[in-house]
Amino acid sequence: MKIEVLRIGQRLVRDDRVTTHVALVSRAFGASKILMYDANPEIKETVSKVNKMWGSDFQVEIIEEWKKILKSKKSDSYKIVHLTMYGENINSVEPKLRKEDKILVVVGAEKVPREVYDLADYNVAIGSQPHSEIAALAILLDRILEGKQFQKKHTDAQREIVPTKRGKQVISKTTLKYGDRKEDFE
Ligand code: SAM
Repeated sequence: MKIEVLRIGQRLVRDDRVTTHVALVSRAFGASKILMYDANPEIKETVSKVNKMWGSDFQVEIIEEWKKILKSKKSDSYKIVHLTMYGENINSVEPKLRKEDKILVVVGAEKVPREVYDLADYNVAIGSQPHSEIAALAILLDRILEGKQFQKKHTDAQREIVPTKRGKQVISKTTLKYGDRKEDFE
């Protein structure tokens, strides 16, 4: 299944840390791409450093108009899954979501325009209480992929973590070059 994430909505003060975390969760929880606007270009750089160190070709695309993206993804047979606390309970829609081929997950940053609710194929609530786009996205991806995303190995990684009960065990798969400091990712 192919999953991409679209982050819409601007806050009065741009919150780069939350946006970075939305991108990192998308990558680590099995999506292949995030599309966003009004994002600091440094976020793209951060994600590409993470890709280089830990593997995967997860993409970040900075976009101008989210409406165009929504419409073009719909015509490219993506199902639009909008995360909102007002939507249907995840427990009742997850079996249907697992059967889809291509999904575009839409997360907001603040109040989301009505049009998104209407364009969405599924408006999905991760519980009917307000919380966070990062948490909502992580849970949605995990419910759809049922943990299989955590079995995935990245053959192009420079470093690979060996899960251990205590401490840290990391295999270095290449010789690090100047600038590839592992401390950046600890
Ligand atoms: N009251 C806002 C709204 O219109 O949903 C909450 C905004 S919240 C800070 C930012 C985003 O987090 C929302 O647009 C939604 O994508 C996601 N979110 C927050 N709580 C959620 C929930 N219970 N279920 C699904 N998504 C949620």
